Amino acid sequence: MSENKKPILGFVHKLPRASAPGNSGKTHCPLCMRLFKAPRLLPCLHTVCTTCLEKLEPFSVVDIRGADSDTSSEGSVSQEHKPQSLQRQIGILCPVCDAQVDLPMGGVKALTIDHLALNDVMLESLRGEGQGLVCDLCSDRQVEKRCQTCRANLCQFCCQAHRRQKKTTYHTMVDLKDLKGYSRVGKPILCSSHPAEELRLFCELCDRPVCRDCIVGDHREHPYDFTSNVIHKYGNSVRELLKSTQPHMEALEEALTQITELNCTLQARVEAVAADVRAFSEGYIKAIEEHRDKLLKQLEDIRVQKENSLQLQKAQVEQLLADLHTGVEFTEHLLTSGSDLEILITKGVVVERLRKLNRVEYSTRPGINDRICFSPREKAGQCHGYEVYGTINTKEVDPAKCVLQGEDLHRAREKQTASFTLFCKDTAGESMGRGGDNIHVTVVPKDKKDSPVRTVIQDNKDGTYCVSYTPKEPGIYTVWVCVKEQHVQVGT
Ligand SMILES: [Zn+2]
Ligand SMILES: [Zn+2]
Ligand SMILES: [Zn+2]
Ligand SMILES: [Zn+2]
Ligand SMILES: [Zn+2]
Ligand SMILES: [Zn+2]
Repeated sequence: MSENKKPILGFVHKLPRASAPGNSGKTHCPLCMRLFKAPRLLPCLHTVCTTCLEKLEPFSVVDIRGADSDTSSEGSVSQEHKPQSLQRQIGILCPVCDAQVDLPMGGVKALTIDHLALNDVMLESLRGEGQGLVCDLCSDRQVEKRCQTCRANLCQFCCQAHRRQKKTTYHTMVDLKDLKGYSRVGKPILCSSHPAEELRLFCELCDRPVCRDCIVGDHREHPYDFTSNVIHKYGNSVRELLKSTQPHMEALEEALTQITELNCTLQARVEAVAADVRAFSEGYIKAIEEHRDKLLKQLEDIRVQKENSLQLQKAQVEQLLADLHTGVEFTEHLLTSGSDLEILITKGVVVERLRKLNRVEYSTRPGINDRICFSPREKAGQCHGYEVYGTINTKEVDPAKCVLQGEDLHRAREKQTASFTLFCKDTAGESMGRGGDNIHVTVVPKDKKDSPVRTVIQDNKDGTYCVSYTPKEPGIYTVWVCVKEQHVQVGT
């Protein structure tokens, strides 16, 4: 194995002109809004400062039995002597996307450091004329230059010292201002176990970068290679994975477009249907209002007609009464005050008049009634294409005037449908002319009163009802027909 000298992840790459510096990476913590400090990468690929993560309230705490505390092979008695050690797995919520992150056993500090973000923070600081950056050597004064060889930021004073010392006098020093516009500063990443060593090797067994000391320590005899040698392999596999991930984004973008489009068409559809509903309802309301006005007009006509009729009857009764008054008064006066001769002379006219008046026919009851009712459920035909309901009726069914007719009232054959007709009439004996009355029919065998035959009543909507029944056995049947819960006599 030999270290490939060609830099793969370059030391200082010039940014392409198109992309403005500063947009290339994330530099600010979403929680504290300041430049990242020791940024950690969460599994959802969001980056947060270590201290900010540590301040987060645990979202969930799960007790997990430590692997070394499995005492199931031992007896239950000894378990009491050796209590199981419980480890706590703490879950937090990503402050950016709310995803639940189960922290590794080591806690926040065991999460991967986001070196990319660290680099971006460094660049951001450099671009701001090194504001806030202190010298890597004296950790005191403000940074002026960067030694590309040591990869260290130096203050003016340490810079001069660098130049004077023999060992470092030929190191390449770059003015901080000149570093602006570069995408990488390439600060060395050091081993967490061996802070003096840079991570330049990759342990293939443990699948992570290691340092020279690691290889002779914990990773002894593990297969390893220089990072520069394995980056092609691993970089390519990541690139492949990225390539297979991108189509999902396209598909999702497409789905999003479709969802947005469907949302638009949905709104349009809802509005169209709402307009239909409104148009229908307005039409229906108009139809009902028109029907209402028609009904009220009809009611007014009935009132006028009945009033006229009453007025006429009243006038006739008053006239007859006045005539009778005249006749009675005259006759009484004649009989009490008239002489015999006067009575005999006038008798002819008086008798003629009184007889005529006595012959006049009159009714002591009003010639009309106040029977007007509204049947809200009765179909009233169509109005502007809408079915409307509600009719005004001046007739009331009179069970005493209702009539039953039909051959099968008196005869019915076994297992053959028999039928007869009910004619509903009002008090005046006139046909109701409409349906909807409350009809009940019972057909029972004369000798088996507790087993009635099923009947079918068909409302002909004209005041007649067709009743049919099918007797199961020969015999005599009794037919009961009720209108408004009163029996109707069986006509002959
Ligand atoms: Zn922070
Ligand atoms: Zn997240
Ligand atoms: Zn210094
Ligand atoms: Zn140097
Ligand atoms: Zn190490
Ligand atoms: Zn290893």
